[in-house]
Amino acid sequence: MSTPPQPRVAVVGAGLAGLAAARELGEAGCAVVVLEAADRVGGKVRRAEVAGTVVDVGAEAMLNRRPEGVDLARSLGLPLEHPTTASSRIWTRDALRPLPRSLMGVPLDLDQLAASGVLSEAGLARVRQEPGLPPEVLDADLSVGELVDRRFGPEVTDRLVEPLLGGVYAGHARELSARAAVPQLVAFATRGSVLEQAAAIPTTYDVPVFAGIPGGMGQLAEAVARGLDVRTGTTVRALERTPGGFRLLTGPTTAEQAIEVDAVVLATPAAPTARLLSGLAPGAAAELAGVEYASMAVVSLAFRVEDAAVVDRSGSSGFLVPPVDGRRIKAATFSFAKWGWVRRAGAESGVVHLRTSLGRHREEVALQADDEELLAVSLADLAAATGLTATPVDVHVQRWGGGLPQYAVGHLDRVERIRSEVGRVPGLAVCGAAYDGVGIPAVIGSARRAAAQVLEDAGFGCSERGGTMEP
Ligand SMILES: Cc1cc2nc3c(=O)[nH]c(=O)nc-3n(C[C@H](O)[C@H](O)[C@H](O)COP(=O)(O)OP(=O)(O)OC[C@H]3O[C@@H](n4cnc5c(N)ncnc54)[C@H](O)[C@@H]3O)c2cc1C
Repeated sequence: MSTPPQPRVAVVGAGLAGLAAARELGEAGCAVVVLEAADRVGGKVRRAEVAGTVVDVGAEAMLNRRPEGVDLARSLGLPLEHPTTASSRIWTRDALRPLPRSLMGVPLDLDQLAASGVLSEAGLARVRQEPGLPPEVLDADLSVGELVDRRFGPEVTDRLVEPLLGGVYAGHARELSARAAVPQLVAFATRGSVLEQAAAIPTTYDVPVFAGIPGGMGQLAEAVARGLDVRTGTTVRALERTPGGFRLLTGPTTAEQAIEVDAVVLATPAAPTARLLSGLAPGAAAELAGVEYASMAVVSLAFRVEDAAVVDRSGSSGFLVPPVDGRRIKAATFSFAKWGWVRRAGAESGVVHLRTSLGRHREEVALQADDEELLAVSLADLAAATGLTATPVDVHVQRWGGGLPQYAVGHLDRVERIRSEVGRVPGLAVCGAAYDGVGIPAVIGSARRAAAQVLEDAGFGCSERGGTMEP
């Protein structure tokens, strides 16, 4: 009996979603090629050298309480490290203040909230009214800010929820979908008082909340890619149906190249995915074209250990900044205080590493500043917040144009409509940060779902053997 031909799959995009999907498909016996426009793999996960130490200049941590990211790292033999116990603070009302216990900024402990000084007396008084409010009746999605304003008052949205959401989505609370971004809050609010149910949310966890990889999260992408056939510098410009599968067109129009495959996974951000789907799934393409992105920059800084003593003494891992305070940076991470491996690596050169991040949705103008200005505003805000006035010994500026998708009100329905139309094209699937969560475990989860869909499509089964395709 002859062996059926090995199914060929193209994965477009070598961010973590594309790489994870390719790995799943390869393990299931498909011949997989990954086509990546950039000259490197990893997408939003990237490392760079700052003062002799290689550090992350994109994503630097992953949730440890979801299994997908840490499981992938372990399966690749990568070590894991958890952040130190140093806690983050909030720079508001002209002081660095403790971050009270919260659910994405929604306060869970009134005593901690009052002691933090984050809210005015009037703001605190408004929060205290929350237990007296009736349960929410939510027939439709609404913005996180609308829900929090209603239950806790606008000060909570402005001073607590905005900086927390800013850290994850670089977005605005009054535009992001409550159902997509904080489903737990929606569930609590529809049952009754969030504050009264807060006791049900654990204050300590058996397992640490976050994990990183000594040497940088960037290694996760690099390690997955090592086992795959990845073609960098290959932009996919068009996707067409053929009688037996799909044709992908790459290269300049003058020297076009076609790649023919049985199935395709699109692991690209919303805009390129929309372009590639315009012929095959026009409704999904139109939905994807409506997903907006926030652009941002990460400024990584190295200071001499002795110059940064004022920051080290604070015992904190960094701070978040509410937009209402009118500062330029939206967060600072004292990487050396947050990660043991960063402190140890820097110590070998007598330096400590910090990073600032700038830019929220629709504030691209902040990023049009040149590197010197991004550095200058970072240093000015660090000095104002912490008293750190030294000159850094090295700096790296990383811009992330289209860094984070914005889950607008109605996002979950939009994703359902996209998946439903894409699902009508057998052998085609989509995954990545535009759909089910922007964090690393979520994009890996969406990659697994896409790989499973491709594998399960009628009449399409991969063989026992893994493999790569000839060019
Ligand atoms: C600054 C920053 C910090 C972050 N920090 C964290 C963090 O600490 N923890 C966390 O969990 N998450 C973090 N995130 C979010 C997380 O890193 C991303 O959501 C996730 O890595 C996205 O993975 P992805 O594979 O979906 O997309 P991407 O990483 O965007 O990958 C998509 C790839 O597709 C390629 N591509 C696009 N068009 C084409 C085309 N036509 N042909 C071929 N290739 C194409 C792109 O070049 C890119 O490599 C952060 C994001 C940013 C921007």
